[in-house]
Amino acid sequence: MTHSTGTLYIISAPSGAGKSSLVKALTDADEQIRISVSHTTRAMRPGEVNGVHYHFVERTEFVKMIEHGDFLERAEVFGNLYGTSQSHLQQTLDEGHDLILEIDWQGAEQVRQLMPRARSIFILPPSLEALHQRLKNRGQDSDEIIEGRMREAVSEMSHYVDYDYLIINDDFAHALDDLKAIFRTNQLQQKRQQQRFGKLLAELLG
Ligand code: 5GP
Repeated sequence: MTHSTGTLYIISAPSGAGKSSLVKALTDADEQIRISVSHTTRAMRPGEVNGVHYHFVERTEFVKMIEHGDFLERAEVFGNLYGTSQSHLQQTLDEGHDLILEIDWQGAEQVRQLMPRARSIFILPPSLEALHQRLKNRGQDSDEIIEGRMREAVSEMSHYVDYDYLIINDDFAHALDDLKAIFRTNQLQQKRQQQRFGKLLAELLG
């Protein structure tokens, strides 16, 4: 069976904008779409699973991986290192899967340089109050960390201008629809459809 090559997506948002829940709902609904699992040196939060949410590693291991050239991109966020490993990335795309990188704006800049065909999506909260409330409701971080994240959020949000698509996550179902529409549109591109329906096209055109 021949596959068409998948699209690489960069999805960024300030923490608390609901990015992870949206991405999870999207991939639950379309099993062709895969999420890249990043490496990080930050401490595991309650409920997180090593190898699922992140590959949690010590700083020394992360630095070794940098030296080996293992990362497509990497960045320091809130004093912790985060990075996307190169392994399996191209293979996943070649297998025809769309692949999502949930990364910050610094990583997004690096990926745009290296893979200009990647599509990028920025997710915004409907208000600063909603963002604050979501960070508090998560109950995973201290007040001090939440205040730090609010300040970081404002600077992160200023980078939305560099992204191809912008989604406001006010109503979850609506935002999910928007996200699905972006993926669907790209899946319907003529080049991808041509590969997918090669046999039909040959029949139709004789
Ligand atoms: P959190 O610690 O809340 O899971 O993530 C903090 C920030 O790091 C988020 O903006 C998230 O998108 C970003 N991030 C997570 N993984 C990566 C990665 O592999 N590369 C980069 N550049 N940023 C990442």
